[in-house]
Amino acid sequence: MSDWISLAASQSYPAGTLYVVATPIGNVADLSLRALHVLGLADAVACEDTRNTGQLLSRVGLQRPLVAVHEHNEREAAGRIAERLAAGERIAYVSDAGTPGISDPGARLVEAVRAAGHPVVPLPGPSAAVAALSVAGDLLDAGAGRFTFAGFLPPKPKARTEAIARLAALEHAWVCYEAPHRIADTLAALAAGLPGERRLLVGRELTKLFEDIAVVPVAQAPAWLAADPNRAKGEFVLVVEGAGSAAADGVPDAEAQRVLALLLAELPAKRAAKLAAAITGAETGALYQLALAQRAGDAGD
Ligand code: SAM
Repeated sequence: MSDWISLAASQSYPAGTLYVVATPIGNVADLSLRALHVLGLADAVACEDTRNTGQLLSRVGLQRPLVAVHEHNEREAAGRIAERLAAGERIAYVSDAGTPGISDPGARLVEAVRAAGHPVVPLPGPSAAVAALSVAGDLLDAGAGRFTFAGFLPPKPKARTEAIARLAALEHAWVCYEAPHRIADTLAALAAGLPGERRLLVGRELTKLFEDIAVVPVAQAPAWLAADPNRAKGEFVLVVEGAGSAAADGVPDAEAQRVLALLLAELPAKRAAKLAAAITGAETGALYQLALAQRAGDAGD
């Protein structure tokens, strides 16, 4: 058992370096051996929320000085961290959960530290998106493994509908995050904006007690969610199957969507779809569905 930690300790961890450390997304045992070692070695742990990180450290028996670095002070805090690195300290940076910089702060700190000439070293580990993708099977481009990370979809209906329309045209799978208070709206928007047979993986509470992973055709996703009130609880990551060959799926490509959006600003949905089809060669029916989804989004704003 004690040998495990010496596996991590046998590597060198230069001083004057910022270590960007991934932390668990729910199960504390997912903290890697290297993460554990570096958190123990660091002169300070910079973090999004000192209370949250304090709890994580105490669960693994560590006590380190904590420095708050969050959205609102990232630039100035980065300056102070760069000074500490210049003085030869090792600083670890963690976000609240998962991998820093992935729908989380961290990018500005990394930029500032690198610009000041100090090394930045990643300690890879959990990320909700990658965990969901790893069990997405052939939703993930029949095994070729390409995907697009979409982060959080926009919360406003119109912007969300537009984002879904753009993502719908992707040949490969895409993955996004969602919060419990928006999951019902988002599944409804996906059902309205995507061909109904597209498969959707809903990953809920990954690595936690109530972990739940379901794959459903997108048209059935709203009903699936409504069938059990527990299904709307917790944190979500969604993986949406790609269009494959966009033509076969009938999803208009990005150019057809652009033309449709321009015409929709001036014309009724049916007329706009017909003209966009004539101009771009995309299917009238698919353009009309998209136009209706867009109008529904506009009305919801
Ligand atoms: N940096 C994190 C990562 O690498 O996954 C993501 C941070 S983002 C602010 C938080 C979102 O990630 C949550 O709202 C949820 O959508 C997703 N998420 C985090 N933990 C999760 C989990 N255990 N199961 C499912 N989704 C999760």
